[in-house]
Amino acid sequence: MNESKFVILGGGMVAGYAAKQLVELGLQPGELAIVSADNSVPYERPPLSKGFLAGKDTEEAIRINSEGFYAKHGIELKLECEVTAVDPKRRRLSLKSGDDFRFNKLIIATGARPRTLNISGAKLRNVCCGACAEGNRGHDGSE
Ligand SMILES: Cc1cc2nc3c(=O)[nH]c(=O)nc-3n(C[C@H](O)[C@H](O)[C@H](O)COP(=O)(O)OP(=O)(O)OC[C@H]3O[C@@H](n4cnc5c(N)ncnc54)[C@H](O)[C@@H]3O)c2cc1C
Repeated sequence: MNESKFVILGGGMVAGYAAKQLVELGLQPGELAIVSADNSVPYERPPLSKGFLAGKDTEEAIRINSEGFYAKHGIELKLECEVTAVDPKRRRLSLKSGDDFRFNKLIIATGARPRTLNISGAKLRNVCCGACAEGNRGHDGSE
């Protein structure tokens, strides 16, 4: 069903902590959906340029809530799901897939986008954007 009482648009740090807080405030199963362009559950980003980059933290260790948390509390996770428009009057999100997603209350937690390098060499192997786990995974500087 493309509808939820509460929807968090974005699946980053704010989304992870908002979901945790809503659960603590008595959220009922089926009341919350997280719609995120990310391909993984919300995680802490600061370790990406610290322990995670150095290989000390695992992906599991930097998650805000465990993967099981969302299923346990009946929170729907719509990952790799990009929102192209928000219609606050009709309480609808338009998804890139062409579908709509209806909500009663919406938290917008889309963060900010890093400025990327626009210089020669920016696309070389091992030159990556530090803002996502995918970009920082497995780069040990050895190549
Ligand atoms: C490498 C790194 C190191 C950092 N270190 C520190 C630090 O030491 N101390 C500190 O205070 N802060 C640090 N920060 C900043 C901190 O991580 C951010 O302030 C924080 O992540 C912001 O949280 P957020 O939920 O607002 O946004 P984000 O965590 O960026 O999450 C945004 C979410 O919105 C989703 N989204 C965006 N647009 C759409 C769309 N159209 N449709 C669907 N989903 C969408 C994204 O996929 C993502 O899931 C660091 C950030 C980075 C990247």
